[in-house]
Amino acid sequence: MTEDSTPRCSRCGKRATYHQAYSGTYFCDDCFVKYLERKVARTIAKFEMLHAHDRIGVALSGGKDSMMLLHILLKLAPRHRSDVVALTVDEGIIGYRERGVRLAVDSSRRLGVQVYTVSFKELYGFTMDDVVNEIGSKMTPCSACGTLRRRAIDVLAKEAGVTVVATGHNLDDIVQTFLINLMNGDIKRIAWLHPKMWRPLHGRPRRVQPLAELLDDEVLHYVKVDGIPFQDEKCPYRSRGIRSRIREMLNDLERESPGIKHVLFKSMLKISEGIRKEGWTTPEVKKCHICGWPSTSDPCNVCRIVTSIVGQPINMKRLEYEDAEAREGSGG
Ligand SMILES: [Zn+2]
Ligand SMILES: [Zn+2]
Repeated sequence: MTEDSTPRCSRCGKRATYHQAYSGTYFCDDCFVKYLERKVARTIAKFEMLHAHDRIGVALSGGKDSMMLLHILLKLAPRHRSDVVALTVDEGIIGYRERGVRLAVDSSRRLGVQVYTVSFKELYGFTMDDVVNEIGSKMTPCSACGTLRRRAIDVLAKEAGVTVVATGHNLDDIVQTFLINLMNGDIKRIAWLHPKMWRPLHGRPRRVQPLAELLDDEVLHYVKVDGIPFQDEKCPYRSRGIRSRIREMLNDLERESPGIKHVLFKSMLKISEGIRKEGWTTPEVKKCHICGWPSTSDPCNVCRIVTSIVGQPINMKRLEYEDAEAREGSGG
């Protein structure tokens, strides 16, 4: 037999398929999948993301991160005596979103997961395509879309009766946001980045990010190894904005100095904890006079965008805030 120079799995000695540069560890497919699932379970425990008997709503776009998240949470939920549903938003981007939405809905059904969906068109009366034609240079499509999507998820969470919303943000996303907030001197948002949720804004479910300690690259390898289908194309409106530049810069840095992203993640945790100790971050909760949702501004950002485009939101009944306690009281 000839000497084989292929790297071997650091755990079991089989042929390695993944090299974790920052730790120097080699993994075969089996050991990698086990390792990553255990790591997500540890992240959930460390940051107290799930409580017993939670009803977990996975914000499922059809992209690799949320698809991996759904698969892993289905494996972990029984430990927390929790159940899992999927929340899928159709932003209305012709030629792009249909595939992701179909993938999310079909995969959920195949996995026996109940899926709740809403479109921007149903909720606000316009699609992201309309927004891009309307807003021109007033706002980047990504920031309008992000604000409108978060509210759509909140509406679905309310309708599905979930106690916690899980999103697929990974370590790369969080570190990028950290640097953007740092550049803007946005202290509050740095404090909010911490994966351990403290008090959520009144009346909203908790939001957790179980993939917070996984590299983008690790998520990609997991979905490929596990054969999880996902939408690979990038959104046509993804701008060449500051986030893309930071993503590229961080990838370059990580190649030269493996581990730098984890260093930045840890420094985000430290700074965030420091800010919280100072007690700077309890946001003053106002009530939006248009939709009634608790918000840090009045009108809230959603209503500001919606009214600038259509004057009045189309589906006020669905969009309006309904106090969970009041609902239970009247229904009882
Ligand atoms: Zn192995
Ligand atoms: Zn509002």
